[in-house]
Amino acid sequence: MKSIAAFKGQQNPVLVDPICPEPLSSNQVRCETVLLGICGTDREILHSLTPGCPENDDFLVLGHECLARVVEIAHDVDGFNPGDLVVPAVRRPAGVDDSVIKRRVDMMPWGCYVERGIVGEHGFSLPTWNDQPEFLFHVPEHIAEVAVLAEPISVSEKAVREAEQIQAARLGDIWEQRPPRVLITGLGPIAFAAVIACRSRNWPVTVYGRDPSDSFRASLVTEFDAEYLNQDDWNWDHADLDRDGFDLILECTGSDQVAIKTALALSSCGIMVWEGCSRTPEPANHNLSLIMRNAILRNHVFLGTVNNAPRDMQSGVDYLVALDDKYGHVIRKMITNRVTPDDSLWHYQNREPQGIKTVVTYNV
Ligand code: BGC
Repeated sequence: MKSIAAFKGQQNPVLVDPICPEPLSSNQVRCETVLLGICGTDREILHSLTPGCPENDDFLVLGHECLARVVEIAHDVDGFNPGDLVVPAVRRPAGVDDSVIKRRVDMMPWGCYVERGIVGEHGFSLPTWNDQPEFLFHVPEHIAEVAVLAEPISVSEKAVREAEQIQAARLGDIWEQRPPRVLITGLGPIAFAAVIACRSRNWPVTVYGRDPSDSFRASLVTEFDAEYLNQDDWNWDHADLDRDGFDLILECTGSDQVAIKTALALSSCGIMVWEGCSRTPEPANHNLSLIMRNAILRNHVFLGTVNNAPRDMQSGVDYLVALDDKYGHVIRKMITNRVTPDDSLWHYQNREPQGIKTVVTYNV
């Protein structure tokens, strides 16, 4: 079984022989990868030509969305057994010395962390690998098919939770008095992850996208009991924003144009969270003056978020369990393709037109 790697200076992914894990140290767990999710970040890493290779390597083993099975535990480890299913955290502290103000790892500045499969440490496109128990989250067997979605869900969960906390800090319990009206932009995995985070809270959701209303992805939105709004039906020029606007906008396309267009639909005291962006931003001219005026007169917040806190990873798993009865069949449809490592390379550079999440099968 091969690993999928990104090499410096190369846009195409390469199949390489897997790196053998070191012998287990006393506080480690050995896992085997079961399923890997392919995500926009993998494509961006390849496209950038500059993968965040570990020191002394000129390639990075990809794979940061993973479902794995524990195969061995060292004697100092409690709470894990061979056969357990787990999802690993992506980001871990590294290079944190006494000069760094300590904070949660997802809030650490550049240089104080590695992200497995993204920056500084190889990912999970490996038959087996070692890890520390604090980075592994248990998964019940009955959600095994979809548990690989826990990581992307946790990224959107952080965005939603931060918005909730910021609004509660400055506005009190207004979202408890009336649930926020949510707009989610995009139809990719992070957008659907945001739908899951918001529908778990029973909030009313509208998803804005380019796809026709009768397409597969748009119909999936409605299966989550959310509304779909096609870009051609977007018209906020003369709307009464405080009556009809959105209290929370989760920007999941990574497009500055979409962000600027949809920001104009924020209600009074609304908050917009940016969840995606290009790794290689192009310079562009945009007129921000109306956004600034609205932001000032209406007390808007614009927030960027990345990665997740441990509790968001746990929520990612918990939502998949809690929603299994009501939306499990819809969540399963988010996995639009399953491929072997050998057949996966095309998917690391291309997206299928109505695809959401392609997963690579390892030890299934
Ligand atoms: C991953 C996050 C990571 C971010 C930035 C995303 O694709 O899901 O865990 O922090 O990329 O590298």
